[in-house]
Amino acid sequence: MARIPITAAVLETPGEPLRATTVYLDEPGPGEVLVRTEAAGLCHSDLHYLNGSLAIVTPVVLGHEVVGRVDQVGTGVTRLRPGDRVVATVTPSCGACSQCVSGHPTQCLRVGELRERAEPLIVDADGVEVGSLAGIGAFAEAFVVREAALALVTDDVDPLAACLLGCCISTGVGAVVHGAAVSASDTVLVIGCGGVGMAAIQGARICGARRIVAVDLHPEKLELARQLGATDVILASDDVRGRVDTIAPNGVTRAFEAVGRPATAELAFSLLAPGGVATILGLMPEGSRINVDASALIEGDRKLQGAYMGGNRFLADIDLLTDHHRTGRLDLESMVTGVVSLNDINDGFDAMRDPQSIRTVVDFRGKVPA
Ligand SMILES: [Zn+2]
Ligand SMILES: [Zn+2]
Repeated sequence: MARIPITAAVLETPGEPLRATTVYLDEPGPGEVLVRTEAAGLCHSDLHYLNGSLAIVTPVVLGHEVVGRVDQVGTGVTRLRPGDRVVATVTPSCGACSQCVSGHPTQCLRVGELRERAEPLIVDADGVEVGSLAGIGAFAEAFVVREAALALVTDDVDPLAACLLGCCISTGVGAVVHGAAVSASDTVLVIGCGGVGMAAIQGARICGARRIVAVDLHPEKLELARQLGATDVILASDDVRGRVDTIAPNGVTRAFEAVGRPATAELAFSLLAPGGVATILGLMPEGSRINVDASALIEGDRKLQGAYMGGNRFLADIDLLTDHHRTGRLDLESMVTGVVSLNDINDGFDAMRDPQSIRTVVDFRGKVPA
């Protein structure tokens, strides 16, 4: 089968910079789609693999928050055709297993099957297999995924903003809308104002929450949190418990943790009102444990829950999210704080340490596709 040479940023050794190099992408097989990348966001999960805090088999192409245009489709692809604009998800769903049919597509039982293929998707110049994060590998000029991992997105969203829909927005807004079903009667607390946290704040604004309290270490992030819908902001170094107590004396009804640390997850739970729900979104190192007070949980009817990828319903949510963007309630543009080319992707990862940084996006449009 003919392979397509593309430039990709390859992770060879965790802890070392990515290397932009030519790799060879397989043609789309049955049910698969080849997408030419327009823009890809740098997500904290990419950073975890890059610096080795989460393990991954190397060499590998990272990147999963992405928008692009369909270039080729394999046999049996029914929903998409060349020229379509799409965003990808790390949680493709089969639409037919018990999780999918009961409304939990992010927990699809057949994800492994959906990513299986006979030939390696990507190989290097010596024919050695190069992996791809979540079966996507978006830090490349093109990628091949199953049709089930792609949702159509309209042309009116700028690519630098549209890529965010694939991960941080569907996770943050999804957790608020689907995971915790926030409503006008809720007092919402969001701990951690990165991409996912900012998306949760915007989700709470879309749902009409009566108070939206943002907590972060950096005043710069809190300033943007206010712009994106936070009604109250608290510096993490301040007396968070005391401040929350003033705003919501019985505790908040919905808390979201978007940091990825047991201590902040425990703090989120401890600030809940009776009957409140704490949703933990930050990925934590393997083996992490969260300790909560048993009587607060049992006697206070409180809940501690996950909402992987926000419990999103990807194919429906992209339309929902673009409508909120179109009508001005979802601000994607303000969340893009940096733009780099693929060759400068390591500078983009360095920029993630900057307290002003929310999302850095790799812009692939400078280069005419081969
Ligand atoms: Zn992500
Ligand atoms: Zn399924």
